[in-house]
Amino acid sequence: MTDQVTIIGAGITGIACACRLQQAGLRVRVLDKGRNIGGRMATRRTRQGLQFDHGVQDLPTTDPDFAHMLRGLGDAVAPWADRGPVGSPGMSDVVRAMARDLDMTQGAMVAGLRRGDPGWQVAVDDIWQDAGRVVVAIPAPQARDLLGADHPFADPLAQVAYDPCVTLMAGLSPEAPRPFHWKSDTGAAGWIAHDGSKPGRQGQPLATWVMQADPEFSTRHIDVDFDTLAQMMAPVLLKHLGAAPAHLQFAAAHRWLYSRVSRPLGQPFLADDAAGLMVGGDWALGPTARDGWASGAAMAAHLLAHG
Ligand SMILES: Cc1cc2nc3c(=O)[nH]c(=O)nc-3n(C[C@H](O)[C@H](O)[C@H](O)COP(=O)(O)OP(=O)(O)OC[C@H]3O[C@@H](n4cnc5c(N)ncnc54)[C@H](O)[C@@H]3O)c2cc1C
Repeated sequence: MTDQVTIIGAGITGIACACRLQQAGLRVRVLDKGRNIGGRMATRRTRQGLQFDHGVQDLPTTDPDFAHMLRGLGDAVAPWADRGPVGSPGMSDVVRAMARDLDMTQGAMVAGLRRGDPGWQVAVDDIWQDAGRVVVAIPAPQARDLLGADHPFADPLAQVAYDPCVTLMAGLSPEAPRPFHWKSDTGAAGWIAHDGSKPGRQGQPLATWVMQADPEFSTRHIDVDFDTLAQMMAPVLLKHLGAAPAHLQFAAAHRWLYSRVSRPLGQPFLADDAAGLMVGGDWALGPTARDGWASGAAMAAHLLAHG
């Protein structure tokens, strides 16, 4: 089998896998459809000079191996309030720091996957490219679409479930109240974070807040257009902060169709060793970025042992 490996997806799963394989001497290439890497470890930056972590909020540290990896990223990870660590200056910087030495192609939507000779071929922009062995590190429903409903992995991938999440990003004038760093509630205000109080976010023209709805509210409002969603959610945020409507200077909404995993697969990945194909992600193990990292690391170890 060729020593070339193509990883589809530059979230923390794909990057964790890529780093280990490259360290072991394999030729690794990572393809991601997004403009930026990191997937759901995302930071939105606006023309007004604002930024928001609208996906992952903070990182778990209960797994000592994951905590050790984070410590190795230096300034890209910093403590926040009484919560777990966060990326600095934005959450996407965690994955960017991990991916520093990797061969990355962004804006590369993999729309097809077929057997080559040897290995696999991937279709990007209607052009089939040799890919060698392939690691698919994208959300389970998207992996199922890519592999096809008749693939042997289609059934286990269909067992995985995610919660959706609708998210408000808001900028308030500097004099508005800032009563807490974070708060957890229900409905539209499932989680509220003073994003601007995280390390590395200082110097923005407005006080930035992120509010993520709980799964029940998110499911009911997942199809609502962004402007309407922002108008619905902003008053709830103002109420929690004790702020006035005049304080609100910026509001935008985002929807995550696949947010946190509610029913994981229960094993770290799916593998077809003879074909040189592996499929993994947070969905294999659980709802956090640590679960994605653990799946990616496990895929790399398996490929090195069985490849
Ligand atoms: C709102 C929200 C809040 C969260 N809060 C937390 C939290 O506080 N703490 C925590 O630990 N976790 C949290 N999570 C979960 C965490 O984001 C995920 O567990 C983790 O980021 C998953 O990483 P991943 O690499 O498996 O997938 P992703 O981050 O989804 O990465 C997949 C990548 O694949 C790319 N891709 C998809 N399809 C294709 C294709 N066909 N071709 C090319 N590229 C493709 C995407 O662009 C993406 O970059 C949260 C998630 C959300 C959405």
